[in-house]
Amino acid sequence: MKLPLLFAFVLSFTSSFAQKHSKLEIHPLTGDFYIYITHQDLDGTPFPANGMYLITKAGAVLFDTPWDTTQFQPLLDSIRVRHHTEVVMGFATHFHEDRTAGLEFLRQKGIKTFTTKQTDRLSAARGKKRAEFLITNDTAFTIGEHSFQSYYAGPGHAPDNIVFWIGKEKILYGGCLIKSVEANNLGNLSDANVKEWPSTIRNIQKKFGKPKFVIPGHQKWTDNALDHTLKLIREYQAKTN
Ligand SMILES: [Zn+2]
Repeated sequence: MKLPLLFAFVLSFTSSFAQKHSKLEIHPLTGDFYIYITHQDLDGTPFPANGMYLITKAGAVLFDTPWDTTQFQPLLDSIRVRHHTEVVMGFATHFHEDRTAGLEFLRQKGIKTFTTKQTDRLSAARGKKRAEFLITNDTAFTIGEHSFQSYYAGPGHAPDNIVFWIGKEKILYGGCLIKSVEANNLGNLSDANVKEWPSTIRNIQKKFGKPKFVIPGHQKWTDNALDHTLKLIREYQAKTN
């Protein structure tokens, strides 16, 4: 009797531990939109990265690929099981690995992958995974019953960071250009242009007004992340000037 009890305890302990650091999390956002999260170790602690997917009658669309390279197939499988559809299209919003790592995997699965020409140049130069198709200008897409557009507002976190705007639901998918209200600094600045970053954010605010949802590249998504990003830039500039 004693052994099975102990075994059960160990099992329940490991499963609750595993849930705390779930390798792939999926959170409904609104309507047909879902945020998915994977992690990578940053200074010994798992740090989350956000991606998004959209379910349409013509298949699913991925906005950025998983950061955790073990989660490419699990994400496709989860979408198939949960929504009974296949991923048909995938985008990466800048050249860093937390956006592009899965591009080649998706292409090999027959999924159409896209980045901008600017992202592709940087990916090629830095040895990152590249997309099959290139966007040369801001582009409007219609997939099934859904429409969205890509927008390059200027440099910030990276020279090539683009955002996606979904007008009907007022979703701004910002990627790493947008810092979560949970973030207390600008994070990885190795490819950043902090000087231009504020005008890039203001271009987005001018173009799209008040989004209902703002999705940052990492951590919690809430609607004042644009102002929060501007605040973090001001704090950084005050410290370094
Ligand atoms: Zn990032």
